[in-house]
Amino acid sequence: MNKLIVGNWKMNGGMASNEVLLGSIVDGLFSVSHAQLAVCVPAPYLAQVQTRLQGSALAWGSQDVSAHEQGAFTGEVSAHMLKDFACRYAIVGHSERRQYHGETDEVVATKAQRALASGITPIVCVGETLAEREAGQTEAVVKRQLAAVIHAVGHCTSELVVAYEPVWAIGTGLTATPEQAQQVHAVLRAQLMAASQKANRVHILYGGSMNAANAASLLAQADIDGGLIGGASLKPADFLSIAQSAKA
Ligand code: PEP
Repeated sequence: MNKLIVGNWKMNGGMASNEVLLGSIVDGLFSVSHAQLAVCVPAPYLAQVQTRLQGSALAWGSQDVSAHEQGAFTGEVSAHMLKDFACRYAIVGHSERRQYHGETDEVVATKAQRALASGITPIVCVGETLAEREAGQTEAVVKRQLAAVIHAVGHCTSELVVAYEPVWAIGTGLTATPEQAQQVHAVLRAQLMAASQKANRVHILYGGSMNAANAASLLAQADIDGGLIGGASLKPADFLSIAQSAKA
């Protein structure tokens, strides 16, 4: 299975700088042999990204999706709307949304359901805080977060992408060691396999300060099928270099 390397731009970008960033990534795609790439961009730029990337090998997606189908939900963006811009992916349950917007496991699960119903692959983020890790709760936390989604999506479990993102490693420069990450990925793989026989094809991404220097050792782990990249995805050379570290 090819690795999947997804950029999460977060709330960064602008019409002019997006053009440069996308152009540089597309120009460098020839140098990547064993990874599929995607960028998850702020919703207002989806039209620009669709126009720029149509016909290229770089896929795109959103950073969130509404848990509601349509109606009086001011400020929300529905899965149906994202589909209008040909989004292939939607990140759901990013720790910044859980932390700053109070998203519960149930809300995240509903968002995953909404995405799937519109033919969009949800990238379901799970991960423990530093306090939870220190209290020995890492496995219990990520299993609880993933269980809510599996319960909601049922036989579509094999259509998910899962991202293990230890909260203490996001944007901090701290990275889980390859062994720490692999240990959690193996737990998630077992949970997915128990839910669906086809779950061996689910990409389980690692996210949390992944960069050009540490990507190869993380991506070499048996159950690390790619990366969700924040800060480094805004630097085309670094993003491409991470993707180049994926080996067959
Ligand atoms: C993220 O936002 O999903 C992320 C992993 O960020 P960073 O790579 O900057 O830690």
